[in-house]
Amino acid sequence: MTDLAASLANYQALTELHDVHTVEIAVPDTQGHLRGKRVPVARFFETTHKAGVNVADAIFVFDMANDLPDNEFINMDTGYLDCRLVPQVATGRVFTHRPGYGIVFADAVDPEGQPHPLAPRSVLAAQIDRCRAAGLDPVVATELEFYLCTPDWQPVQSHIQYSSLTDAVAIEEVLLAMRTALLGAGIEVESSNAEYGPGQLEINTGPADAMTSADNTVLFKSIVKQVAVQHGLRATFMPKPFTDQSGSGMHVHTSLNVDNKNAFADSAGEPNELMAKWIAGLLEHAAALTFLGAPTINGPKRIRPYTFAPTHIHWGLDNRTVLARCITEKGSSANRVEFRSAGADANPHLLIAGILAAGADGIERNLSLPPMSTGDTYGNPGDAAALPSDLAGAIAGYAGSSLALLLGDKFSRSYLSIAQAELALADDNSADPDDVNDWERARYIEHC
Ligand code: GLU
Ligand code: MG
Repeated sequence: MTDLAASLANYQALTELHDVHTVEIAVPDTQGHLRGKRVPVARFFETTHKAGVNVADAIFVFDMANDLPDNEFINMDTGYLDCRLVPQVATGRVFTHRPGYGIVFADAVDPEGQPHPLAPRSVLAAQIDRCRAAGLDPVVATELEFYLCTPDWQPVQSHIQYSSLTDAVAIEEVLLAMRTALLGAGIEVESSNAEYGPGQLEINTGPADAMTSADNTVLFKSIVKQVAVQHGLRATFMPKPFTDQSGSGMHVHTSLNVDNKNAFADSAGEPNELMAKWIAGLLEHAAALTFLGAPTINGPKRIRPYTFAPTHIHWGLDNRTVLARCITEKGSSANRVEFRSAGADANPHLLIAGILAAGADGIERNLSLPPMSTGDTYGNPGDAAALPSDLAGAIAGYAGSSLALLLGDKFSRSYLSIAQAELALADDNSADPDDVNDWERARYIEHC
């Protein structure tokens, strides 16, 4: 049996076991949302698994509010063409929080049958291929924070109880349902805890290969939102929903496997040579990566001193004030670097693609690591460069950068044009860099 036939047989058995009636063919769009079509299960296994489904390519140029800013590749003149979603059956899961439904991730192909250049999965696949061509297999985990809110978007709590096991038993009921739903969908849950904001929570999930991790991240957000609604509540991944409270981040942990073993394992405190070059690449491209981690006017507002979001380009060991935090214990297969600048609304496929491109570049160019930073890097940034702290700065960090070229000229031009439209709109409505106003909340809180 071929791998594909085996995947299909396995998935069919799983759907039968769980009485699945409907399969969702899902593709992550440019804003990190799941889009696609629902297909009756019999039809999926008869034809759709091979033939795929069509969807308008507009999904790759929507802004966060589902509007269609001007785009040079996809517009009224091109007629908003269909692109084909080709199911990747090995990604198939079933849902336990919505019994009867399953999901399969799809690759988007253009009318010539080529990977769609604007599809986030295509952008990430190219960077995974690049790493693998060098014998490096990236292992990735994302770490997401979010606020649990009432239906009118007020936090469910008015006080902060970081990591309390005593507080908020009522919230635990919802959190248990979230953890159970994530596990049901094949996402390895490690733990959950209350974060440092009223009603702010975090659920940690295990590492996986880069594409699975990115797929899991969009699925995570979708499931957390759905379970919140099932409990009469709402969840938001807006990076800075409330001016005076903590932002919500998407930390990204990466390591590299060589011959199925963590190649950072012999780092002890100091990163080993390969890890040092990987981190040097992340630092080299940090300004451009800020854009991938903060693509609207709201995300950069999270990047402020003493918020635990990094403001400067530092690396360190276990230090939550730096951009690149290393977890390095001699001989540990869990050694990795945590990249801490992205907001929870970042598109995980694009952000991870950027991180892989940056790290691989550090290795290819033998970049060397600046001295390690210790202590309070907010109070003592030394001569480290500051990260962009508004959208205009983030755009400037990406536009014309070598990272933009590495991720693809068409993709980068399109993604920048969406952000430029966002910036123009925001300038008219929410110009204060340190305030999150009602216009901004109305635009992002539900959609992020
Ligand atoms: N909430 C912080 C952020 O926006 C991160 C806190 C933490 O270290 O977990 O990045
Ligand atoms: Mg956290």
